[in-house]
Amino acid sequence: MNVALVTLGCKVNQYESQIYRENFKNNGFEIRDFGESSDIVLINTCVVTKRAEKESRNLIHRSLRTSQKVIVTGCYVEKDNETLKEKFPQIEVVKRERLLNNGYFKKKVNKIHNFSGHTRAFIKIEDGCEKFCSYCIIPYLRGRVKNRSSKEVLEEIEGLVGNDYKEFVLTGVDLGAYEGLDNLLAEIEKIKEVKRIRLSSLEPKEISSSLIDLLGSNQKFCPHLHIPLQSGDDRILRLMNRDYSLKDYTALIEKIRKKIPEICFTTDVMVGFPGEDREAFSNTVRTIKEIGFSKVHCFRYSARERTKAAKLANQVKEEEKRERAEATRLSAEEVSRKIKRNFLRKTLSVLVEGKKRNGHFFGYSEHYLPVLIEEEVGVNQIIKVRIGNLKGDCLVGSILC
Ligand code: SF4
Repeated sequence: MNVALVTLGCKVNQYESQIYRENFKNNGFEIRDFGESSDIVLINTCVVTKRAEKESRNLIHRSLRTSQKVIVTGCYVEKDNETLKEKFPQIEVVKRERLLNNGYFKKKVNKIHNFSGHTRAFIKIEDGCEKFCSYCIIPYLRGRVKNRSSKEVLEEIEGLVGNDYKEFVLTGVDLGAYEGLDNLLAEIEKIKEVKRIRLSSLEPKEISSSLIDLLGSNQKFCPHLHIPLQSGDDRILRLMNRDYSLKDYTALIEKIRKKIPEICFTTDVMVGFPGEDREAFSNTVRTIKEIGFSKVHCFRYSARERTKAAKLANQVKEEEKRERAEATRLSAEEVSRKIKRNFLRKTLSVLVEGKKRNGHFFGYSEHYLPVLIEEEVGVNQIIKVRIGNLKGDCLVGSILC
């Protein structure tokens, strides 16, 4: 029997799909690429926005046309499996817990040994979130905070370095809620073959002084942090039930920059949140410029059932959201280019991930900056690259011999 897997959503979902992939293999299934005809398709869904929910349904329609059996799991199932069963009576709906821990696979694998289609390995160390940001449906679907044992995480990473993985991206639904994160990072750093350790995303209030000191103490910790801002306006941050003010956020950035001057920051912002007027929106755009993010993921607010924000007054029109998202994207790109120009004539370490369509080899620097390499190079190696130029959103450089 053969199976194809397709995944929507966050790094945690992608990690869990790798667990499913290895479990199928371990139970005698051949793994096929999604889109090829296969006996079974497993769809790992996401419902963080209306758009993701629609994409999940589109994947189900598409898979029902190419495969005898369609298994659906992930956040759509956690959110509303009854509706799914009604809409698609022919599919098999399986809760995540059952696939991960409760007897779906006879021979069970609970660690990943590879990360299909990736040069950098995502490592799930935490699940769940108890913050209940007013726009977010995730706490209702992923439940309370759960930590993986550090022993299991370290064994997993040791297995992956054996398969030649060099960079490890620690991830979770609320990564910073992991108890003993500093200790775990210090243990991972001790593994000789581990070359890079990256943190996928941290909430502002979860970044302690000891963590900043640790990240600044060793070159294995990548000088890059993704810290969701969401809004540059205090009134909106309160409506979002975010636990920091803009002043807290900017003070944190300054504190980290003092300890790690060359660090790059990326972030998430949400535009069109209920009650966001022109002034609040311009506070967000101004903050993006003042902080200087190397990349901004901009989301249009999408009302989710069960969330407090969905019931708020002053919902913003879709057209207005689109305009704000476009304005944010343009501003953020300009800021990003300015940040990237600081790296011209500098030498960066780049983990080569493969070839871009334009024929250039490509990878990310330790700061998580995208770099095109002029020469032919081997994939999955870390090389020194002298940056000579900026092309679109990528730095361009040549190998330092
Ligand atoms: S921290 Fe907020 S946005 Fe992130 S998963 Fe938790 S509730 Fe959602």
